[in-house]
Amino acid sequence: MTTNLPFLENELMDVVRLFPGDGAVAEHVLSYADGTYKNTFTAGGKTYEFEDTMPAKNELEYKRYAKRYAKLALYKILKERYGMAMPWGALTGIRPTKLAYTERAAGRDWQTLFRKMDVSEENIRLTGDILRAQEGIYERRDGNCDLFVSVPFCPSKCVYCSFITADIRYTRKYLDEYMEKLCFEIAASAPLVGNLRSVYIGGGTPLVLGTEHLKMLLGALAPLRANDCEYTVEAGRPDVFTEEKLELLKAYGVTRICVNPQSLSDATLERIGRKHTAKDVYRAYEMAAKYGFDVNMDLIAGLTGESFEEFAESLRAAVALAPDNITVHTLCLKAGAKLKEEHARLDGDAVGRMVDYSRGILRAAGYEPYYMYRQKYQAGNRENTGWTKPGKACVYNVDIMEETADNLAVGANAVSKKVHTGENRIERYGSPKDFQTYFNKIEDVIAKKRKLFAGERA
Ligand code: SF4
Repeated sequence: MTTNLPFLENELMDVVRLFPGDGAVAEHVLSYADGTYKNTFTAGGKTYEFEDTMPAKNELEYKRYAKRYAKLALYKILKERYGMAMPWGALTGIRPTKLAYTERAAGRDWQTLFRKMDVSEENIRLTGDILRAQEGIYERRDGNCDLFVSVPFCPSKCVYCSFITADIRYTRKYLDEYMEKLCFEIAASAPLVGNLRSVYIGGGTPLVLGTEHLKMLLGALAPLRANDCEYTVEAGRPDVFTEEKLELLKAYGVTRICVNPQSLSDATLERIGRKHTAKDVYRAYEMAAKYGFDVNMDLIAGLTGESFEEFAESLRAAVALAPDNITVHTLCLKAGAKLKEEHARLDGDAVGRMVDYSRGILRAAGYEPYYMYRQKYQAGNRENTGWTKPGKACVYNVDIMEETADNLAVGANAVSKKVHTGENRIERYGSPKDFQTYFNKIEDVIAKKRKLFAGERA
Protein backbone atom coordinates (compact mmCIF):
# COMPACT_ATOMS: atom_id res chain seq x y z
CA MET A 1 0.00 0.00 0.00
CA THR A 2 1.23 3.51 -0.71
CA THR A 3 0.26 6.68 1.12
CA ASN A 4 0.99 10.34 0.33
CA LEU A 5 2.01 10.97 3.99
CA PRO A 6 4.98 8.86 5.15
CA PHE A 7 4.15 9.34 8.85
CA LEU A 8 0.96 7.32 8.25
CA GLU A 9 2.68 4.24 6.82
CA ASN A 10 3.19 2.32 10.07
CA GLU A 11 -0.16 3.43 11.45
CA LEU A 12 -2.01 2.04 8.45
CA MET A 13 -0.03 -1.20 8.60
CA ASP A 14 -1.13 -1.61 12.22
CA VAL A 15 -4.74 -1.62 11.01
CA VAL A 16 -4.00 -4.08 8.20
CA ARG A 17 -2.41 -6.42 10.76
CA LEU A 18 -5.66 -6.64 12.70
CA PHE A 19 -7.20 -8.62 9.84
CA PRO A 20 -6.28 -12.00 8.33
CA GLY A 21 -5.23 -10.57 4.90
CA ASP A 22 -4.04 -7.31 3.37
CA GLY A 23 -7.48 -6.32 2.06
CA ALA A 24 -6.04 -5.59 -1.39
CA VAL A 25 -5.60 -1.94 -0.44
CA ALA A 26 -3.42 -0.24 -3.06
CA GLU A 27 -3.34 3.46 -2.45
CA HIS A 28 -4.15 6.03 0.22
CA VAL A 29 -4.32 9.81 -0.02
CA LEU A 30 -5.11 12.19 2.84
CA SER A 31 -5.89 15.87 2.33
CA TYR A 32 -6.65 18.43 5.04
CA ALA A 33 -8.44 21.77 4.73
CA ASP A 34 -10.45 23.90 7.18
CA GLY A 35 -10.40 21.27 9.91
CA THR A 36 -11.62 18.47 7.62
CA TYR A 37 -9.62 15.32 6.90
CA LYS A 38 -10.44 13.65 3.63
CA ASN A 39 -9.19 10.06 3.30
CA THR A 40 -9.34 8.34 -0.09
CA PHE A 41 -8.44 4.67 -0.49
CA THR A 42 -8.43 2.43 -3.51
CA ALA A 43 -9.02 -1.20 -2.61
CA GLY A 44 -9.99 -4.14 -4.81
CA GLY A 45 -10.44 -1.78 -7.77
CA LYS A 46 -12.92 0.45 -5.87
CA THR A 47 -12.46 3.95 -4.48
CA TYR A 48 -13.60 4.81 -0.95
CA GLU A 49 -13.85 8.32 0.49
CA PHE A 50 -14.29 9.40 4.10
CA GLU A 51 -14.50 12.84 5.71
CA ASP A 52 -14.05 13.74 9.38
CA THR A 53 -13.90 17.15 10.97
CA MET A 54 -11.71 18.06 13.96
CA PRO A 55 -9.80 21.36 13.75
CA ALA A 56 -6.16 21.06 14.85
CA LYS A 57 -4.52 23.79 16.92
CA ASN A 58 -0.97 22.82 15.97
CA GLU A 59 1.16 20.35 14.03
CA LEU A 60 1.04 17.77 16.82
CA GLU A 61 -2.75 17.77 16.90
CA TYR A 62 -2.94 17.68 13.12
CA LYS A 63 -0.80 14.52 13.05
CA ARG A 64 -2.76 12.92 15.89
CA TYR A 65 -6.11 13.42 14.15
CA ALA A 66 -4.73 12.57 10.71
CA LYS A 67 -3.57 9.20 12.09
CA ARG A 68 -6.85 8.61 13.87
CA TYR A 69 -9.11 9.27 10.88
CA ALA A 70 -6.90 7.53 8.32
CA LYS A 71 -6.89 4.40 10.50
CA LEU A 72 -10.62 4.59 11.06
CA ALA A 73 -11.30 4.87 7.34
CA LEU A 74 -9.10 1.88 6.54
CA TYR A 75 -10.62 -0.10 9.39
CA LYS A 76 -14.12 0.48 7.99
CA ILE A 77 -13.06 -0.82 4.57
CA LEU A 78 -11.43 -3.94 6.02
CA LYS A 79 -14.27 -4.57 8.44
CA GLU A 80 -16.69 -4.68 5.54
CA ARG A 81 -14.33 -6.69 3.32
CA TYR A 82 -13.72 -9.42 5.92
CA GLY A 83 -17.09 -9.21 7.67
CA MET A 84 -15.27 -8.98 11.02
CA ALA A 85 -15.37 -6.32 13.74
CA MET A 86 -12.38 -6.07 16.10
CA PRO A 87 -12.81 -5.88 19.89
CA TRP A 88 -10.93 -2.56 20.02
CA GLY A 89 -12.23 -1.39 16.65
CA ALA A 90 -9.78 0.92 14.89
CA LEU A 91 -7.79 1.64 18.07
CA THR A 92 -4.32 0.19 17.66
CA GLY A 93 -2.48 2.04 20.45
CA ILE A 94 -1.21 0.19 23.47
CA ARG A 95 -2.91 2.40 26.06
CA PRO A 96 -6.66 2.85 25.49
CA THR A 97 -7.12 4.23 29.01
CA LYS A 98 -4.55 6.94 28.36
CA LEU A 99 -6.55 8.00 25.32
CA ALA A 100 -9.70 8.14 27.48
CA TYR A 101 -7.90 10.38 30.01
CA THR A 102 -6.65 12.64 27.19
CA GLU A 103 -10.18 13.05 25.84
CA ARG A 104 -11.47 13.76 29.31
CA ALA A 105 -8.77 16.39 29.91
CA ALA A 106 -9.77 18.08 26.63
CA GLY A 107 -13.35 18.33 27.93
CA ARG A 108 -14.71 15.67 25.57
CA ASP A 109 -16.63 12.48 26.30
CA TRP A 110 -14.16 9.62 25.76
CA GLN A 111 -16.98 7.13 25.21
CA THR A 112 -18.16 9.08 22.16
CA LEU A 113 -14.71 8.73 20.62
CA PHE A 114 -14.49 5.02 21.52
CA ARG A 115 -17.88 4.38 19.87
CA LYS A 116 -16.81 6.29 16.78
CA MET A 117 -13.69 4.09 16.63
CA ASP A 118 -15.98 1.01 16.80
CA VAL A 119 -14.72 -0.23 20.20
CA SER A 120 -17.05 -2.94 21.55
CA GLU A 121 -19.46 -2.01 24.33
CA GLU A 122 -17.82 -4.62 26.55
CA ASN A 123 -14.43 -2.90 26.12
CA ILE A 124 -15.98 0.50 26.76
CA ARG A 125 -17.30 -0.92 30.02
CA LEU A 126 -13.86 -2.36 30.84
CA THR A 127 -12.20 1.01 30.21
CA GLY A 128 -14.77 2.87 32.34
CA ASP A 129 -14.32 0.37 35.19
CA ILE A 130 -10.54 0.85 35.05
CA LEU A 131 -10.82 4.64 35.22
CA ARG A 132 -13.03 4.23 38.28
CA ALA A 133 -10.64 1.74 39.92
CA GLN A 134 -7.76 4.17 39.39
CA GLU A 135 -9.49 6.98 41.29
CA GLY A 136 -7.28 7.95 44.23
CA ILE A 137 -4.19 6.40 42.58
CA TYR A 138 -4.04 8.17 39.21
CA GLU A 139 -2.05 11.34 39.73
CA ARG A 140 -0.41 13.51 37.06
CA ARG A 141 2.19 15.52 38.90
CA ASP A 142 5.73 16.52 37.93
CA GLY A 143 8.25 14.91 40.26
CA ASN A 144 6.22 11.77 41.01
CA CYS A 145 8.57 8.85 40.53
CA ASP A 146 8.70 5.05 40.43
CA LEU A 147 11.90 3.06 40.66
CA PHE A 148 12.38 -0.04 38.49
CA VAL A 149 15.21 -2.50 39.01
CA SER A 150 16.06 -4.89 36.19
CA VAL A 151 17.14 -8.44 37.04
CA PRO A 152 17.29 -10.07 33.60
CA PHE A 153 18.02 -13.66 34.66
CA CYS A 154 15.65 -16.65 34.59
CA PRO A 155 15.95 -20.32 35.58
CA SER A 156 15.15 -21.27 31.95
CA LYS A 157 13.73 -19.44 28.96
CA CYS A 158 9.97 -19.86 28.36
CA VAL A 159 9.16 -20.53 24.72
CA TYR A 160 6.79 -17.58 24.29
CA CYS A 161 8.99 -15.02 26.08
CA SER A 162 10.09 -11.97 24.10
CA PHE A 163 11.86 -10.18 26.99
CA ILE A 164 15.61 -9.76 26.93
CA THR A 165 16.20 -12.18 29.74
CA ALA A 166 18.53 -15.11 29.70
CA ASP A 167 18.70 -18.62 31.06
CA ILE A 168 20.95 -18.36 34.09
CA ARG A 169 22.80 -21.54 33.10
CA TYR A 170 24.39 -19.52 30.31
CA THR A 171 24.69 -16.15 32.06
CA ARG A 172 25.78 -17.11 35.57
CA LYS A 173 29.30 -15.98 34.69
CA TYR A 174 28.02 -12.37 34.48
CA LEU A 175 26.10 -12.43 37.73
CA ASP A 176 28.76 -11.20 40.22
CA GLU A 177 29.74 -8.27 38.04
CA TYR A 178 26.11 -7.50 37.21
CA MET A 179 25.19 -7.23 40.88
CA GLU A 180 28.22 -5.07 41.59
CA LYS A 181 27.46 -2.64 38.73
CA LEU A 182 23.73 -2.63 39.47
CA CYS A 183 24.30 -1.71 43.12
CA PHE A 184 26.78 0.96 42.04
CA GLU A 185 24.16 2.42 39.71
CA ILE A 186 21.50 2.29 42.44
CA ALA A 187 23.73 4.25 44.85
CA ALA A 188 24.48 6.82 42.14
CA SER A 189 20.75 7.17 41.41
CA ALA A 190 19.78 8.19 44.96
CA PRO A 191 19.85 11.97 44.24
CA LEU A 192 17.59 11.45 41.21
CA VAL A 193 14.69 9.92 43.14
CA GLY A 194 11.71 12.29 43.29
CA ASN A 195 8.48 11.79 45.15
CA LEU A 196 8.81 8.00 45.29
CA ARG A 197 5.51 6.17 44.82
CA SER A 198 6.76 2.62 44.34
CA VAL A 199 9.76 0.35 43.90
CA TYR A 200 9.53 -2.61 41.53
CA ILE A 201 12.18 -5.30 41.16
CA GLY A 202 11.34 -7.07 37.92
CA GLY A 203 12.92 -9.19 35.31
CA GLY A 204 13.40 -11.84 34.50
CA THR A 205 12.90 -13.74 37.69
CA PRO A 206 14.45 -11.79 40.59
CA LEU A 207 14.26 -14.71 43.02
CA VAL A 208 16.61 -16.68 40.82
CA LEU A 209 19.28 -14.66 42.70
CA GLY A 210 20.91 -16.48 45.57
CA THR A 211 20.36 -15.12 49.09
CA GLU A 212 23.68 -13.25 49.17
CA HIS A 213 22.98 -11.39 45.94
CA LEU A 214 19.38 -10.76 46.97
CA LYS A 215 20.51 -9.30 50.27
CA MET A 216 23.05 -7.12 48.49
CA LEU A 217 20.34 -5.76 46.17
CA LEU A 218 17.75 -5.15 48.89
CA GLY A 219 20.43 -3.47 51.02
CA ALA A 220 21.44 -1.17 48.16
CA LEU A 221 17.82 -0.14 47.64
CA ALA A 222 17.02 0.46 51.30
CA PRO A 223 18.37 4.06 51.51
CA LEU A 224 16.37 5.11 48.42
CA ARG A 225 13.07 3.98 49.87
CA ALA A 226 12.83 6.58 52.58
CA ASN A 227 9.05 6.42 52.78
CA ASP A 228 6.88 3.35 53.16
CA CYS A 229 5.85 3.24 49.52
CA GLU A 230 4.69 0.13 47.74
CA TYR A 231 7.54 -2.33 47.16
CA THR A 232 7.05 -5.16 44.68
CA VAL A 233 9.32 -8.05 43.84
CA GLU A 234 8.33 -9.96 40.77
CA ALA A 235 9.49 -13.06 42.58
CA GLY A 236 8.39 -15.07 39.60
CA ARG A 237 8.43 -18.75 39.07
CA PRO A 238 7.73 -21.00 42.03
CA ASP A 239 10.80 -23.18 41.50
CA VAL A 240 13.02 -20.43 42.91
CA PHE A 241 11.05 -19.67 46.11
CA THR A 242 12.70 -20.47 49.45
CA GLU A 243 11.75 -19.51 53.03
CA GLU A 244 15.10 -17.79 53.40
CA LYS A 245 14.53 -15.51 50.39
CA LEU A 246 10.98 -14.65 51.46
CA GLU A 247 12.21 -13.81 54.95
CA LEU A 248 14.74 -11.44 53.42
CA LEU A 249 12.03 -9.72 51.36
CA LYS A 250 9.93 -9.29 54.48
CA ALA A 251 12.87 -7.97 56.50
CA TYR A 252 13.60 -5.30 53.87
CA GLY A 253 9.99 -4.08 53.73
CA VAL A 254 8.74 -5.67 50.49
CA THR A 255 4.95 -5.32 50.40
CA ARG A 256 3.93 -7.18 47.27
CA ILE A 257 5.21 -10.19 45.34
CA CYS A 258 4.26 -11.92 42.13
CA VAL A 259 3.83 -15.68 42.01
CA ASN A 260 3.60 -16.28 38.31
CA PRO A 261 2.33 -19.64 37.11
CA GLN A 262 1.00 -18.51 33.64
CA SER A 263 -0.95 -21.77 33.67
CA LEU A 264 -1.84 -24.34 36.30
CA SER A 265 -1.94 -27.19 33.80
CA ASP A 266 1.14 -29.42 34.08
CA ALA A 267 0.94 -30.34 30.39
CA THR A 268 1.01 -26.66 29.40
CA LEU A 269 3.81 -25.83 31.83
CA GLU A 270 5.95 -28.52 30.27
CA ARG A 271 5.12 -27.36 26.73
CA ILE A 272 6.12 -23.76 27.43
CA GLY A 273 9.50 -24.75 28.85
CA ARG A 274 8.84 -24.27 32.56
CA LYS A 275 10.72 -26.51 34.91
CA HIS A 276 8.00 -26.70 37.55
CA THR A 277 4.53 -28.14 38.09
CA ALA A 278 1.24 -26.69 39.34
CA LYS A 279 1.98 -28.29 42.71
CA ASP A 280 5.09 -26.10 43.02
CA VAL A 281 2.88 -23.05 42.47
CA TYR A 282 0.58 -24.06 45.34
CA ARG A 283 3.59 -24.76 47.54
CA ALA A 284 5.13 -21.34 46.74
CA TYR A 285 1.81 -19.60 47.29
CA GLU A 286 1.38 -21.24 50.68
CA MET A 287 4.95 -20.35 51.65
CA ALA A 288 4.43 -16.70 50.65
CA ALA A 289 1.05 -16.43 52.39
CA LYS A 290 2.71 -16.75 55.81
CA TYR A 291 4.56 -13.47 55.31
CA GLY A 292 1.48 -11.37 54.59
CA PHE A 293 2.59 -9.95 51.22
CA ASP A 294 0.00 -8.74 48.75
CA VAL A 295 0.19 -11.32 45.99
CA ASN A 296 -0.26 -11.05 42.24
CA MET A 297 -0.65 -14.07 39.97
CA ASP A 298 -0.17 -13.92 36.20
CA LEU A 299 -2.02 -16.13 33.74
CA ILE A 300 -1.79 -16.18 29.94
CA ALA A 301 -4.69 -16.88 27.57
CA GLY A 302 -3.71 -18.59 24.31
CA LEU A 303 -0.60 -20.52 25.40
CA THR A 304 0.55 -23.06 22.84
CA GLY A 305 -1.75 -26.04 22.73
CA GLU A 306 -3.82 -25.02 25.74
CA SER A 307 -7.54 -25.70 25.44
CA PHE A 308 -10.30 -23.42 26.67
CA GLU A 309 -11.08 -25.88 29.46
CA GLU A 310 -7.44 -26.00 30.64
CA PHE A 311 -7.30 -22.21 30.74
CA ALA A 312 -10.66 -22.03 32.55
CA GLU A 313 -9.44 -24.56 35.14
CA SER A 314 -6.23 -22.59 35.72
CA LEU A 315 -8.24 -19.44 36.21
CA ARG A 316 -10.68 -21.08 38.63
CA ALA A 317 -7.75 -22.55 40.57
CA ALA A 318 -6.06 -19.14 40.78
CA VAL A 319 -9.31 -17.51 41.94
CA ALA A 320 -9.72 -20.22 44.59
CA LEU A 321 -6.35 -19.18 46.07
CA ALA A 322 -7.77 -15.62 46.32
CA PRO A 323 -4.63 -13.57 45.59
CA ASP A 324 -5.00 -9.77 45.82
CA ASN A 325 -4.28 -9.31 42.10
CA ILE A 326 -4.70 -11.58 39.08
CA THR A 327 -3.31 -10.42 35.75
CA VAL A 328 -4.69 -12.05 32.62
CA HIS A 329 -2.34 -11.66 29.66
CA THR A 330 -3.12 -12.61 26.09
CA LEU A 331 -0.38 -14.41 24.24
CA CYS A 332 1.71 -12.07 22.16
CA LEU A 333 2.66 -13.57 18.83
CA LYS A 334 6.21 -13.03 17.74
CA ALA A 335 6.73 -11.23 14.43
CA GLY A 336 7.83 -13.50 11.62
CA ALA A 337 6.85 -15.52 8.64
CA LYS A 338 4.33 -17.65 10.48
CA LEU A 339 2.64 -14.69 12.11
CA LYS A 340 -0.41 -14.44 9.89
CA GLU A 341 -0.93 -18.17 10.03
CA GLU A 342 -0.80 -18.19 13.83
CA HIS A 343 -2.93 -15.07 13.94
CA ALA A 344 -5.65 -16.68 11.86
CA ARG A 345 -5.56 -19.85 13.92
CA LEU A 346 -5.79 -18.10 17.29
CA ASP A 347 -7.90 -15.09 16.38
CA GLY A 348 -11.36 -14.61 17.72
CA ASP A 349 -12.56 -17.93 18.96
CA ALA A 350 -10.41 -19.68 21.52
CA VAL A 351 -8.48 -16.71 22.88
CA GLY A 352 -11.47 -14.37 22.78
CA ARG A 353 -13.56 -16.93 24.66
CA MET A 354 -10.83 -17.30 27.29
CA VAL A 355 -10.57 -13.56 27.84
CA ASP A 356 -14.36 -13.13 27.98
CA TYR A 357 -14.62 -16.02 30.41
CA SER A 358 -11.92 -14.52 32.62
CA ARG A 359 -13.82 -11.23 32.80
CA GLY A 360 -16.99 -12.98 33.98
CA ILE A 361 -15.28 -15.19 36.55
CA LEU A 362 -13.12 -12.43 38.00
CA ARG A 363 -15.98 -9.94 38.30
CA ALA A 364 -18.11 -12.61 39.99
CA ALA A 365 -15.28 -13.30 42.45
CA GLY A 366 -15.13 -9.61 43.46
CA TYR A 367 -12.15 -8.50 41.38
CA GLU A 368 -12.20 -5.24 39.44
CA PRO A 369 -10.05 -4.34 36.42
CA TYR A 370 -7.52 -1.64 37.35
CA TYR A 371 -5.02 -1.41 34.50
CA MET A 372 -4.78 -2.65 30.97
CA TYR A 373 -2.50 -2.48 27.97
CA ARG A 374 -2.29 -3.89 24.51
CA GLN A 375 0.65 -5.14 22.47
CA LYS A 376 1.30 -5.55 18.80
CA TYR A 377 0.70 -9.06 17.46
CA GLN A 378 -1.54 -9.97 20.37
CA ALA A 379 -3.64 -13.07 19.83
CA GLY A 380 -7.23 -12.21 18.95
CA ASN A 381 -6.38 -8.46 19.06
CA ARG A 382 -7.11 -8.57 22.75
CA GLU A 383 -5.33 -7.04 25.74
CA ASN A 384 -3.63 -7.67 29.09
CA THR A 385 -5.72 -6.73 32.11
CA GLY A 386 -4.76 -6.46 35.75
CA TRP A 387 -7.56 -7.33 38.17
CA THR A 388 -7.59 -6.41 41.82
CA LYS A 389 -9.54 -6.93 44.97
CA PRO A 390 -10.92 -3.55 46.09
CA GLY A 391 -8.21 -1.36 47.63
CA LYS A 392 -5.32 -3.57 46.48
CA ALA A 393 -4.45 -2.01 43.11
CA CYS A 394 -0.74 -1.80 42.36
CA VAL A 395 0.44 1.83 42.13
CA TYR A 396 3.43 0.89 39.97
CA ASN A 397 1.26 -0.70 37.27
CA VAL A 398 -1.09 2.30 37.16
CA ASP A 399 1.77 4.82 36.93
CA ILE A 400 3.55 2.86 34.21
CA MET A 401 0.53 2.25 32.06
CA GLU A 402 -0.84 5.78 32.30
CA GLU A 403 2.65 7.35 32.07
CA THR A 404 1.87 9.84 34.82
CA ALA A 405 5.11 9.53 36.81
CA ASP A 406 8.84 9.39 36.05
CA ASN A 407 10.28 5.91 35.80
CA LEU A 408 13.82 5.77 37.09
CA ALA A 409 14.93 2.40 35.76
CA VAL A 410 18.26 0.83 36.74
CA GLY A 411 20.16 -2.16 35.38
CA ALA A 412 20.77 -3.56 31.91
CA ASN A 413 17.99 -3.14 29.37
CA ALA A 414 16.09 -0.73 31.61
CA VAL A 415 14.14 2.10 29.97
CA SER A 416 13.90 5.26 32.07
CA LYS A 417 11.22 7.86 31.37
CA LYS A 418 11.02 11.48 32.36
CA VAL A 419 7.43 12.72 32.21
CA HIS A 420 6.90 16.43 31.58
CA THR A 421 3.23 16.60 32.47
CA GLY A 422 2.69 20.27 31.57
CA GLU A 423 4.18 19.86 28.10
CA ASN A 424 2.59 16.46 27.49
CA ARG A 425 6.01 15.12 26.64
CA ILE A 426 8.04 12.08 27.67
CA GLU A 427 11.81 11.70 27.32
CA ARG A 428 13.32 8.21 27.38
CA TYR A 429 16.68 6.61 27.91
CA GLY A 430 17.29 2.88 27.40
CA SER A 431 20.42 1.38 28.97
CA PRO A 432 22.45 -1.25 27.06
CA LYS A 433 20.85 -4.66 26.71
CA ASP A 434 24.05 -6.60 26.54
CA PHE A 435 25.75 -7.29 29.91
CA GLN A 436 29.29 -6.54 28.78
CA THR A 437 28.27 -3.22 27.23
CA TYR A 438 26.36 -2.31 30.38
CA PHE A 439 29.47 -3.06 32.49
CA ASN A 440 31.80 -1.11 30.21
CA LYS A 441 29.51 1.91 29.95
CA ILE A 442 28.21 2.13 33.49
CA GLU A 443 29.63 5.64 34.06
CA ASP A 444 28.03 6.82 30.82
CA VAL A 445 24.69 5.20 31.79
CA ILE A 446 24.73 7.11 35.08
CA ALA A 447 25.64 10.38 33.33
CA LYS A 448 22.76 9.94 30.86
CA LYS A 449 20.33 9.39 33.74
CA ARG A 450 21.59 12.52 35.48
CA LYS A 451 20.97 14.43 32.33
CA LEU A 452 17.48 12.99 31.97
CA PHE A 453 16.33 13.46 35.55
CA ALA A 454 18.45 16.29 36.94
CA GLY A 455 19.05 18.23 33.73
CA GLU A 456 22.83 17.83 34.02
CA ARG A 457 25.10 17.69 30.98
CA ALA A 458 25.96 14.12 29.99
S1 SF4 B 1 10.03 -16.50 33.58
FE1 SF4 B 1 9.12 -14.69 32.61
S2 SF4 B 1 10.85 -13.38 32.01
FE2 SF4 B 1 11.66 -15.46 32.41
S3 SF4 B 1 11.71 -16.50 30.44
FE3 SF4 B 1 9.76 -17.02 31.40
S4 SF4 B 1 8.31 -15.46 30.68
FE4 SF4 B 1 10.37 -14.70 30.22
